Amino acid sequence: MPAKPAAKVRRPRTAAERTERIQTILEALGRLYPAATCALRHEDAWQLLVATILSAQCTDKRVNEVTPALFRKYPTVLDFAAVSQEELAGDIRSTGFFNNKAKSIIGAARRILSEFGGKVPGTMEEMLTIPGAARKTANVVLGTAFGVPSGIVVDTHVQRIARRLDLTQEEDPVKIEKDLMRLIPEDRWILFSHQMIHHGRSLCVARKPRCFECPLNMVCYAKDKTM
Ligand code: SF4
Repeated sequence: MPAKPAAKVRRPRTAAERTERIQTILEALGRLYPAATCALRHEDAWQLLVATILSAQCTDKRVNEVTPALFRKYPTVLDFAAVSQEELAGDIRSTGFFNNKAKSIIGAARRILSEFGGKVPGTMEEMLTIPGAARKTANVVLGTAFGVPSGIVVDTHVQRIARRLDLTQEEDPVKIEKDLMRLIPEDRWILFSHQMIHHGRSLCVARKPRCFECPLNMVCYAKDKTM
């Protein structure tokens, strides 16, 4: 059965109303997902970096199925730096795009060993020099492993919800991140990223969002809202 169109929600008209609306969104996300965090299992920053590279075009669930055996087989950065691309690709085959991912992981391990003394670096500038680590990956690792609010993670969920909530009109993830960083207080960047990803998985799903259960309904005027 086709979804019914949603009731009309008034758009904020003044700067004060826009600020109040952001506050409402943050409070609702806070109530919904008070302790949201990264779903990728890891024990340290290096494992999180590997898991995040593996999660491209793959579910966190699948990555979490692959990584326990992977980290048993290659317990250190050194082990990943020494393995052949062919062998590592075979180990991570089920996550998809395994050749590229293996190349990135081995390249990341070698760079971390040669430039950063074997430790994942703690700044965005340094992270962006690591193979396989663009802003999204860097934000996941810096925010979750180090508690550094380097930016906001813009994955497919954040991209979709930010547009639905009219927090951005952009489509490019880097531009969306800039808009979000302007609107969301810095001390909420890390939690906000995880909350948006959780919201995209549970209620604000890509097809037929579950707006009737969503506490953001009163401030959301997305075109594809359902009742
Ligand atoms: S009301 Fe619907 S479209 Fe808006 S944020 Fe909630 S689930 Fe997403």
